[in-house]
Amino acid sequence: MTGIVLLALIAIIAARVLYTFRDRSPGYSLAIAIDGKAADASPRPLRVGFGRVKINPDLSKPNEPVYIAGFDQNRTATNIHDDLWAVACVIDDGHSRVGVVSLDAIGFFHDDVISVRKRLAADWKIDYAIVCSTHNHSTPDLMGLWGPSVLRSGVNAGYRELVIQSSAEAMGAAVKSLQPTRISSHEILTKPDGLLTDSRKPEVYDADIRVLHFTSPSNGATIGSIVGWANHPETVWSENRDITADFPGYLRDMLENGVRQNGAILDAGVGGIHLFVNGAVGGLMTTKPSVKVHDPYLQQDFKEPTHDKTRALGRQLVSRILPRLEDTNAPTTDRASIRIHARTIELPLENDGFLLAPVLGLIDRGHSRWRQLRTEVALVSIGDVSIACIPGEIYPEIVNGGIERAPGGDFDIDPVETPPIRTMMPGKLKFIFGLANDEIGYIIPKSEWDEKPPYLYNAKKGVYGEVNSVGPEAAGIIHRAIKELVAQAKP
Ligand SMILES: [Zn+2]
Repeated sequence: MTGIVLLALIAIIAARVLYTFRDRSPGYSLAIAIDGKAADASPRPLRVGFGRVKINPDLSKPNEPVYIAGFDQNRTATNIHDDLWAVACVIDDGHSRVGVVSLDAIGFFHDDVISVRKRLAADWKIDYAIVCSTHNHSTPDLMGLWGPSVLRSGVNAGYRELVIQSSAEAMGAAVKSLQPTRISSHEILTKPDGLLTDSRKPEVYDADIRVLHFTSPSNGATIGSIVGWANHPETVWSENRDITADFPGYLRDMLENGVRQNGAILDAGVGGIHLFVNGAVGGLMTTKPSVKVHDPYLQQDFKEPTHDKTRALGRQLVSRILPRLEDTNAPTTDRASIRIHARTIELPLENDGFLLAPVLGLIDRGHSRWRQLRTEVALVSIGDVSIACIPGEIYPEIVNGGIERAPGGDFDIDPVETPPIRTMMPGKLKFIFGLANDEIGYIIPKSEWDEKPPYLYNAKKGVYGEVNSVGPEAAGIIHRAIKELVAQAKP
């Protein structure tokens, strides 16, 4: 009898495991290679459109608490401090069309991105749709790791559906507002001091701000911008229970509406709709509570993790960006070819925690095959501006250089992920879109991978990172895929 019970139990568990890991998108495989030749041969004026849809959670249902993502479990939201958005930008060169949606969200899995793509109307003619998350730690759980306990998901299926639908609607609104544009690009060299810290050696940042500015050819007015920077939006830190868009929210609002304090306008905005994309945040880029942030408009320092400190961080960025957007002498062009190279890749899932979490009902994402995750990389360029889409939190040294053969590392090998991604990318302004089309967790250089003693750089304790990574091979596979896309994209 016990034998039968045991067999039945094993069968139930096996069925559960098979169901959990079922492929949510069977056969989904993407391979796009738009080389821009048609646009080179017959250049047509660029067009751009922006759209946005609010994605606030519903806090009015006492029996449906909203679990905030990031830090510890069971952090329920009590208040909406400022709105969360899905912001979309669609760019069209007369031949091809690329769309980007940036979500005020912790992360969005590839299956959810595929769901968004399925809802884009065919007549919007979007050749490639990118969905990124700002990686905000004051937004509802969309990954399942921050529910009422470590064993229960914090994802509300209705909210996830709202985000999927809103992403598609934002993209549609952007398509409908397509209009002729001129573009100018800005790289704003920025030191991390007073803004953020790197909490894991080697100390490498991706602190420069990159901006793609869209203006009207008829009157020079701002239509919108894409701003890229790399830092965890978690300024209000772990005790916060307000829903907030964190520094990206302040940044977008101030670029549009100006810098205001108690009704007074301290700096005028430029109007338009602004989209923030996060970059290489792995390793770990963050504005810790120990970082003192100076508000350049109030001439005041903020250290405690408050909304005022977050606003100061937003103002640090705005005070650097606004002068560029107001610079009427910046070179602009109204013609640029769009090139898109994107590809589905598979990553081996070596993290047993990531394997267990779906069985427990925490992470809801399918596997393309047993212990293989389907994800995606892309290289998009618009004239001199290139974008590498990375499906998670990549360590800045993989992007900018500086990977170390770290003493104490588990593999004791020379750096694998070379040359640095940014040196391979084409063009003059090189964006990294982090958490693009997926959130697979940290993307860690193999030579810095460390789970076993002796620990990195002879430290007494182990480092944080590996527990939230699919495994030591992920970085190499992503790096190689980007390298191949770069080679494919060469004219
Ligand atoms: Zn993170």
